[in-house]
Amino acid sequence: MINLPTPFSNLPVHRLSYAHPSPIHLLPNLTQYANNLNVDQSSSGVRLWTKREDQAGPLTCYGNKYRKFEYIIPDILARKNVTTIVTEGAIQSNHTVQVASVARILGLKCTVLLHRGIGGLRIAKDKDAFAKVGNVQLNKLLGADVRITDESDTGDEKAPLIPILDELRAQGQTPYWISSGASLHPLGGLGYARCAFEIASQEQQLATDQRLGGSKQFDYIFVACGSGSTLAGLIAGFKLHEKVNHAEPAVTFERKIVGILTSPTKSRSHQEERILRLARTAGGLIGLDPETDITEADVHLDERFVGRGYGLLDADTAETLDLAARTDSLLLDPVYTAKALRGMLDWAQSAQALQKPAGAHQTGPVNALFIHTGGQSALSAYADGCPIMLPNQQLEAKS
Ligand SMILES: *Cc1c(COP(=O)(O)O)cnc(C)c1O
Repeated sequence: MINLPTPFSNLPVHRLSYAHPSPIHLLPNLTQYANNLNVDQSSSGVRLWTKREDQAGPLTCYGNKYRKFEYIIPDILARKNVTTIVTEGAIQSNHTVQVASVARILGLKCTVLLHRGIGGLRIAKDKDAFAKVGNVQLNKLLGADVRITDESDTGDEKAPLIPILDELRAQGQTPYWISSGASLHPLGGLGYARCAFEIASQEQQLATDQRLGGSKQFDYIFVACGSGSTLAGLIAGFKLHEKVNHAEPAVTFERKIVGILTSPTKSRSHQEERILRLARTAGGLIGLDPETDITEADVHLDERFVGRGYGLLDADTAETLDLAARTDSLLLDPVYTAKALRGMLDWAQSAQALQKPAGAHQTGPVNALFIHTGGQSALSAYADGCPIMLPNQQLEAKS
């Protein structure tokens, strides 16, 4: 199993995931698809893998937020008198379902505030269905107190929740607030710092089995980037892993971790600055020197796949959703993972893909890992937009 160094190993954690790592497997048909389209047919090409964070544990619709909660739960339990977890998100937020699910297993109440103005509701053809199926239904099934608001994003993440927090306190309850996506929580980045160590241990096994083509690590890691705390946690975790394994000669180089942005609302520079801050917060907690060990150069963002907006399904994203389902039977979500996989596929077809990071094993295929962060529970709300029914010939021509 994974060995975390101190002080990381001393931080309280409440595991929600299975005792074994979430699976990493090859995407054979998407690999072939990408290599067929590759601009340099003389190269050894790419090998595309995925880590199934959507299958990391037993709770409802597993996804990346659970990993974040693994480090937040001890803080909730330490407060002893908490009765209710309160959070918010878009109408089809995956995060809120994962909060509602965690509240269930902790025996706590849960109130979720869903914002009509954020995400796909605005352009949904069937607005009633959008506000009722998918994650909204799941929140209700899990017994959450679901509130829907028209108030739009004020910029101050806590503001719309203040009346709800006051109301709960007036009823004698003790609420615990978790920000949208758990990204503002100071402990929110730790789950994916831990996941970095899990990936590193899986790489060792894959390398022993000669499945990385002579290499010992993935060359690239792609992940969807919303609030960025998943990406930030991975950056911090791999930095720490590189630092503690530095003594072993020629074993580690820097994997390039690329965040695929999923919303055009905030500028790339704003996002870079935010992710650097989140990575440094996590880094400081796990034993890195935040200022010197993590720098701007560690944050790689790609903004080309944001599409029309957060939660708005565009044709290119829908096409990737179709493609993944029809090639490797891989179910993506319309808001995050389809954009992220599209980013990886675009990259895998370009000349850039054939360049390995400095220090990497320079022969053999480039190994790229796509972190599947979950979210498929929102799919039914997007029934009008996907599948888009790619003609079969089109898929065959590409593969
Ligand atoms: C929330 C979410 C993300 C984004 O994670 P951040 O840590 O906010 O960047 C990615 N994928 C899915 C499926 C999500 O639900």
